[in-house]
Parts: sequence; C-alpha cells; structure tokens
Amino acid sequence: MRFNVAQLLKSPAGTSREYDLDEDITDIDEYLDVVAALIGRVRFLRTDNGILVTGHVRTEIRVPCRRCLTPVTVLIELDLEEQFRPSVDIWTGAILPLEPGEEEATRTDAHHILDLTEVVRQNLLINVPMAPLCSPQCRGLCPQCGANLNEGPCGCHYEESDPRLAILRGLL
Ligand SMILES: [Zn+2]
Ligand SMILES: [Zn+2]
Repeated sequence: MRFNVAQLLKSPAGTSREYDLDEDITDIDEYLDVVAALIGRVRFLRTDNGILVTGHVRTEIRVPCRRCLTPVTVLIELDLEEQFRPSVDIWTGAILPLEPGEEEATRTDAHHILDLTEVVRQNLLINVPMAPLCSPQCRGLCPQCGANLNEGPCGCHYEESDPRLAILRGLL
C-alpha cells in the first residue's frame, strides 16, 4: 500500500487524489488470519503540513469462536483518518525532525512514499472482535471430553448435583 505522493506534496493545500484499493494483506500481521483482500477507497488531501488520508476499507478475518473454537470469518470495516507528514522537505530535501507524539508510521519516507500498511494494521488490530460466536446458539465444547457439542452429544454424563464430583472438577 505504497503511494508516491511527491506530486501531491508539491501541490497547494486543498488538492486531493483518490485511489481504489484491492490489496493482498495476508501477511500484514502474524496474529491476524486475513482471508480476503483489503477493498476500499482512500482520499489523500494535501493540507498545510502534510497529507490527510481518509477512507473506508473492508476485509475479512478469521477468529476462533469463543465457545467452540471453530474459526469464524468476520467482516471488518475500517474508517481511516490519518494525518501523514513528510520526513523530508519536498522542495529543499531537508530532513524534518519527528514531532513529539508523531509516529514514523505516519511519515512519508525519504523518497516521498506514503505507506498505509502500518496504519491499516493498527486499525485492524483495534477492530478485531475478541470473542465472536460461530452462532448465537453455539453449544461450545464439552467440559469433560472437549468434543464440539454442535456436532451432537458426546456421551458424557454430567453429575453436577453430586458435590464430591463438583469439588473434583474444581481441582482439575
Ligand atoms: Zn461456536
Ligand atoms: Zn464429553
């Protein structure tokens, strides 16, 4: 997701460009199981001190059901809004210092490349549902044998009324 913004940086504030995204982000983060392309549209707006990126993108991620651990595919939609600043002055080539609170990820590089990858990765991590369900009726796993109870009863007998068993189970 790299864009050369040299021309845009040379343009007056208020100039904008739009790009359609269709990106393979399978390897964007080792903890994210991305199963669809990143699709959407972004707008780059030249501002007085950089480029404001806004846009709406979506992708699909696989996460385990919190009860039965079966992978569930969830649609994730992101509204992006991020101010990027140049790391070098477009006219003089002078290196611009990192401002307090500013991240390298939201700076263009020395060749005026604006890379959206890190911004998208951070937004995805924030928006991944931590504990989805494969269905509201998911029966989960048998606490004794671990069988997926959505596939039918496992044959275990529960003796929850027997206090001695309940204590033993508590020790496991
Ligand atoms: Zn489930
Ligand atoms: Zn069982």
